[in-house]
Amino acid sequence: MSLRAILLLPLLLISLLMGSFLYAKWIPDNLANNKASHLKAVDQHLGSVVEGLIPLLLGSELDIIHENLNALKKRNTTWIGIRLVDAEGKQLYPLVTTAPPSPSLYNPDVQTLQKPISYLDTQLGTLYVQIDLTPTLKNARKESRELTIMLYGMLAIMMTTIILLAEFAVRRPVSQLAKAAKRIAQMDYDAPLPKSLSHEVSNLVDSFAAMRDDLRAYHVNLHHEIAERKEAEQALKKLNATLEQRVGDELAKNREKDHLLIQQSRLAAMGEMVHNIAHQWRQPLNSLGLIVSNMHDDFRFNTMTPETLNRDVAAVRHLIERMSNTIDDFREFFRPDREESQFDLVEATRDAIAIIEATFKNNHIDLELDLPPHPLLVTGFHNQYAQAVLNLLANAKESIVASKTGSGRTRITLREQASDAVLSVEDNGGGIPQGILPKLFEPYFTTKEQGSGIGLYMVKMIVERNMHGKVGAMNLEHGAKFTLSVPLYPAP
Ligand code: ADP
Repeated sequence: MSLRAILLLPLLLISLLMGSFLYAKWIPDNLANNKASHLKAVDQHLGSVVEGLIPLLLGSELDIIHENLNALKKRNTTWIGIRLVDAEGKQLYPLVTTAPPSPSLYNPDVQTLQKPISYLDTQLGTLYVQIDLTPTLKNARKESRELTIMLYGMLAIMMTTIILLAEFAVRRPVSQLAKAAKRIAQMDYDAPLPKSLSHEVSNLVDSFAAMRDDLRAYHVNLHHEIAERKEAEQALKKLNATLEQRVGDELAKNREKDHLLIQQSRLAAMGEMVHNIAHQWRQPLNSLGLIVSNMHDDFRFNTMTPETLNRDVAAVRHLIERMSNTIDDFREFFRPDREESQFDLVEATRDAIAIIEATFKNNHIDLELDLPPHPLLVTGFHNQYAQAVLNLLANAKESIVASKTGSGRTRITLREQASDAVLSVEDNGGGIPQGILPKLFEPYFTTKEQGSGIGLYMVKMIVERNMHGKVGAMNLEHGAKFTLSVPLYPAP
């Protein structure tokens, strides 16, 4: 139901009730009151007329009675009929016999009053007066009409005012608000907002405007967020597309770095290795010296024969070949391995021993080997593993030399343990100082004056990162024990 109808309905109802009250109660009552008061006044008047008629009737002075009543009729224009009868019912006035005035059936405004005339309990007659109330009631009727018109006029003005006020203060603003709400639902925030005379509706419009502003801000934020998300999504997609490539690149770079570091550590160990070569060459050089002296003596004492010369030359050649082989071995050992491959741990361990055993011998350190007679195959980098073993052996040697123990001893053990190959290097160099065990494998950690601190770090990298194995260090009674555990190549 529309607001107009809601407002009109009670007003119509009020006017209906008011109209019914006016026509059913107030106007008839008013007319009746008017009529009654007029009749009462006439009745009083008739009372005095009757008083005046009594002596005239007693004296049978009919002429005077006629005169009086004529004059009375003339004076009271609303008295349309006067009739006087004596006690026997004989009409005394007017002379022309007329039917007794009877209450009109057709005109309710014509009333007949009847006044009995008596003197000292003697009935003298009756006076009938027929009165036309129309002029009297005319005024009352006019008043009623005017009052009705005035009331309905007031009601109409009231209704119009209320409807106009409701229209401008409530209905229009509310319908404009509804339109704005519809446009907001379609994400159009520029619909004009209404102004209202009503405080309450103005408050509503203000709240609505605040809500619209919030929505607009939220909408803008949402747009930004969506745009940002889309951008992030794009960036993520791009990143994803190149991620594999980048991870591959980074891995390759890391591997390259590892290789470089290993290479650097090898280069650092080069000096030491030259020292080792010198140790290796000491014995063949001595032999060469001896052979050359022998040849010189043979020549001096004329005992040189083609056979002795051939023998000595062959021996020299053999020694030179051995020395050359040593260089080849060293060169091979320090060549960086490019590809991961399957290799024998026993062979790699022997390579490391071959490089350093002369140094051990010259420092009077016993090198005990406990290697399996069969190959132990693993996957990884042959030379890197040999380098790791060499680092452990070099550390063992240095520890023993530093401890100045009379009888230096190092033991290398290689064993199969479950699915791993475990190599251990034990020495009797006095062990690892307390408290440094957890830091041992950290890069650049050293307790030596000339140390680099990368030897054990390299060992850890080679074994754990490149070969998925495990390194360990512990103290024994007289020295240290290092273990390298790597997974064996699975048996076919
Ligand atoms: P560097 O030999 O240059 O010091 P490493 O990483 O090879 O570097 O060794 C780190 C430290 O570990 C050494 O300085 C030393 O204190 C300790 N260490 C290594 N091997 C042994 C060993 N066999 N006995 C005692 N201490 C050792």
